[in-house]
Parts: sequence; structure tokens; C-alpha cells
Amino acid sequence: MGRNQERNPPPTLRQPELWSDDFNDFICKCVIKDFELRPNVLDLLQHPFIKQVKNKEKLLQNQLIELIDLNQQVGLIEKTRHERIHTKKGNHMKNQGDSDEVEDLATLEVLDENTVTDHLQNRYERDMIYTYVGDILIAVNPFNVMDIYTPEHSTLYIGVKRTANPPHIFAVADIAYQSMVTYSSDQCIVISGESGAGKTESAHLLVQQLTVLGKANNRTLQEKILLVNNLVEAFGNASTVINDNSSRFGKYLEMKFTSTGTVVGAQINEYLLEKSRVVHQATSEKNFHIFYYIYAGLADRKKLAHYKLSDSKTPKYLFNEHIKLGPDIVSNTSYKEQFDAVEQCFKVIGFSLEELGSVYSILASILNSGDIEFAAVASEHQTDKSNISNGSVLENVASLLCIRSDELQEALTTHCVVARGETIVRNNTVEKATVVRDAMSKALYGRLFSWIVNRINSLLRPDSQGEDEQNLNIGILDIFGFENFKKNSFEQLCINIANEQIQFYFIQHIFTWEQDEYLNEEVDARMIEYEDNRPLLDLFLQKPMGMLALLDEESRFPQATDQTLVGQCLQLTRRREHHL
Ligand code: ADP
Ligand code: MG
Repeated sequence: MGRNQERNPPPTLRQPELWSDDFNDFICKCVIKDFELRPNVLDLLQHPFIKQVKNKEKLLQNQLIELIDLNQQVGLIEKTRHERIHTKKGNHMKNQGDSDEVEDLATLEVLDENTVTDHLQNRYERDMIYTYVGDILIAVNPFNVMDIYTPEHSTLYIGVKRTANPPHIFAVADIAYQSMVTYSSDQCIVISGESGAGKTESAHLLVQQLTVLGKANNRTLQEKILLVNNLVEAFGNASTVINDNSSRFGKYLEMKFTSTGTVVGAQINEYLLEKSRVVHQATSEKNFHIFYYIYAGLADRKKLAHYKLSDSKTPKYLFNEHIKLGPDIVSNTSYKEQFDAVEQCFKVIGFSLEELGSVYSILASILNSGDIEFAAVASEHQTDKSNISNGSVLENVASLLCIRSDELQEALTTHCVVARGETIVRNNTVEKATVVRDAMSKALYGRLFSWIVNRINSLLRPDSQGEDEQNLNIGILDIFGFENFKKNSFEQLCINIANEQIQFYFIQHIFTWEQDEYLNEEVDARMIEYEDNRPLLDLFLQKPMGMLALLDEESRFPQATDQTLVGQCLQLTRRREHHL
């Protein structure tokens, strides 16, 4: 299929599943846009759909008359409905002009930033949070519960023209679904926006509507997806300055359908979990939800001691001036409830009690690791050496992880270098040992998260009976939004690069491809100037001259330091300037 057709496909039957395969195929052929590919009338007359009419003319004629009558009646009803909606809107608008009447900003005459934001603001003030720009939907976070996601709304948006109803996230689900079924091709919905803009909430609403569209006839799959969402969010979300339930990882959820459009399963891919949060949180931010849940949950069951967790001293990884262990974590009833919910979810997925115990042990071992302390040991050769000054904490971590404490100690306080085929053990300074300890905690948490996501996927996997069926997908991409703090970590850099990449895709979609289409169709359109962020992406992603490639390369040198990396970057800048 040509790109033009992909982006601007020919019209289709409203509900293809209501019609026979022959008819669907016939209509498809009639409306092929590219005249070179479209069959001519003589070819079409040979189509099975036409040929079967032979000898049935009289019967069909009568059926047709009946159908036309019926349609005319339906048409009358539709028309009054539309008029009603229109009048209602008209009343609204009396003092407003018709500015927020525009549901698709692409139809505006003037399209500058002010006009766009004014429109969005006007609509938002009248509780219209959704607006289209061409085939993109803009959602403005209402920050309160809206009455627009009822089963009635859900039905309203199935298989109808986009202009038939006000803009809505359900319409996006519908167009993805209808396109998937009609063209037997996979679809993808990309969600972007700054942190707290409502991306994750939108992803949930898309899943909700797609399961309705994929009419599994039972609600189990939707329930399962919502259930596992709670689980991944307990491990992957945290409270930040902007959003109490901010996703700290990227999620690509693929919903799987049969070729006729019945939803059969789902699959989650996770990206870029913000592991540094495990060991450090910025002011007014918290660690991943699960750490608070498990503390409150285990305390409630009098199991803190079993998992070597103190009920009086806040673990370093959770320490925060404004949060007291007793009142704010241990006896927080909401955390306790969340813990029960998470445990319930684990059980539904099929984790054994033993595995559940391991998950808690690993989480507890991470919290304990943060409290391992190191002291400098002066040795004869005056190399900086460290040992662990609070041995009992080391013992706790080792026993929770079921490993030997001397091995753990060695892993934390020494490192191996391989030089000329020989392995040399070197000591870690206190500073280095601390870094190693935190790296271990982050890695443990990252692995745990991936392991859980894998298990979740086995729960959401389509039943084997549908295996030989052709599988179609709708992917929903929900990553964390663009972030800019006073102090930004490497993870913020990765998040922002990912967001830039998505921005690049939007720019391509809105401007580049659109203008190509104008050119192709020889439409005399004024070329719009826009900022292309490709150079910025290249700066980071290009190989071998991008910043990330440089960082990779530097990381491989044992002697590399922050300074040598800066040196490399400067050299890169010079080389780039030279190129220009
Ligand atoms: P993001 O994923 O973009 O960081 P979220 O989806 O977590 O943001 O949204 C942040 C908060 O905004 C949610 O917890 C919810 O309270 C509110 N919110 C977002 N979208 C909606 C919506 N469509 N209706 C009601 N509240 C919403
Ligand atoms: Mg989110």
C-alpha cells in the first residue's frame, strides 16, 4: 500500500463485519484511489459479487426497495438527532462567537500558536477536553472525573464517522480498530505529552474502548489488563512533584486480535525504568510505590522482622525529611490496602507463595542494602581500601538474597580487572564501594521488574486455540513525559531523547509527509516553515559520532573519567564544526 493511501485511505464500509466477504472485497476494489491499480468496469463486472446476481434480479430488486425504505426512516431519525445537538450547541455559543465550535484545528484559517491555545482554552473552559488536529487528538487534562466515559459514550463512538460526535479518545480507538480490521494491518497509537498531562490515563481509556470494540463477549481480558496495570504501576510508578502517580518507565502495550477483530490477548514491553529512583529521590519525590506498600503491608502482618525491616529506623532509600516511618508509612491504611491488592494480583497471575516470598525478600534486601555502610581501611601500600562497618546489615542482605555474606562483602569492596589475560583483584575505595552497592540495588530492582513483566505476559498471552489464526495488533505507546529539573540525571536525558524522537515522528506526520502529499498531488500550497529536530537527535543518536556512542565508547576504557568524556565531547564539537 502506498504511503498516501496509508495516511489518507479510501472510504470503507462503516461496519465491514456486517457484510459478506465478497461485498467487502468488491467495495474495496471500487474505491482504490490509485487509478493504475483500480480495476476498470469490465473487470469489476467479472467480480464474484456481481456475477452471483445472475437470475436473481427480481428478488434482489424487491429486497433493495425494502432496504431503501428502511434507510429513509433511519435517516429521518438521524437528522432530527443531529439538529437537536446542533441547537444545543448553538445556545451555548450565544455570547461566545463560534470560536470553540471548531472541533478540528486543522480546519482553522489561521493556525498560529495563540489561535491554537485560545481555542483549546475556550473549549477546556466548557469542559470540552478533546480537540482534533487532523488525525491527531489533543487531550487537555481535566483533573477531575468526567462523565464522558460511560457505556453509552462507548457505544456512541463505535463504527461511526469521526465528525458524527464530538472529539473523543474513544474515536481514536475506533479508527485504529476499524483500520486494523479493514486493511488487515497492525496499528499503533502514540501518546506524548509532558509529565502529568494524562498519558497513562488515556492509555487506560484506549484499552477500555478497544476491549469493547474487540468484543471478547466477556470482560475477563479487560479485567486482567486493568489488574496487571495496577501491578506494573505499583512497581513502575512513583509520586513526583508534578504527578502523584507518575510512570517512571515506558510501556508499549500490544493488544492482540484475530483477523476478524476479536481481542484475544495482550503483551507488555517495558523500557527505561528509572532505576536511579530506587537509591535516590529528588526533594519532594518518593521511591517507587511498592516500597511503601510492602512496608505497611508487612507491618500489618507483623512480618517486618521476618524480612529484616526495622519498625523504628527509616531505611536510607526511603529517607525523607517529611516522611516519618511510623505515622506516614507503617500505619498508612491506603498503603496497606494497595499491598493487599498487589498481592491479590500476584496470586491471580499465578505466582506461587514461594515466589511471592522471593519478591518480598528481594524488595527487603534492596531496602537493607541501602543501609550497608563502608569505612576506609588504611593498608600498608596506602591504597584506599574499604570494609563494611555494619556487619549485621550485610548479614541481613545476604540472608534475604540467600547468598554467602563473605561473597557479598567481596563483591562490594573489590573489583576485578583483566590485564594481559590475567585477572587482578583490586580494592574499592569507600566512595566506589558505595557506588557499587547502589548499582547492585538498581540492578536487582530492574531485574525484578522485568521478571514480573514477563510473568504478566504469560497471563495475557492469547489462548492456544487461536494460534493458527492470523494475529493483528494495536500497540499503545505510553512513555514518561518530557522532564526538566534543576538537576537532571542520565535517565532524564534518555527520557527526553525518547520524547524528542516521538516529537520527530509527529513533525514528520504533520508537516513533512503532508507537504510531500501536496507536492505529489500538485496542490499549490504555501510551504509552512517548521523546526525540524533531526539535528538534535543526530547529536545524540548518530553513530559513531553521537553523544551516546561516545559515552558507550568511553565506558569501555577502564581509565576513563568524567573529564575524559568531556574531552571527547569537545573533540566531537570541533569535528562537527569542521564538517559545517
Ligand atoms: P502522565 O501519564 O501523562 O504523566 P497521568 O495519566 O498519570 O499523567 O495523569 C495524571 C493525573 O491526571 C491522573 O492521576 C488523573 O488524576 C488525572 N487525569 C488524567 N487524565 C484524566 C482524564 N481523562 N479524566 C480525569 N482525570 C484525568
Ligand atoms: Mg504516565
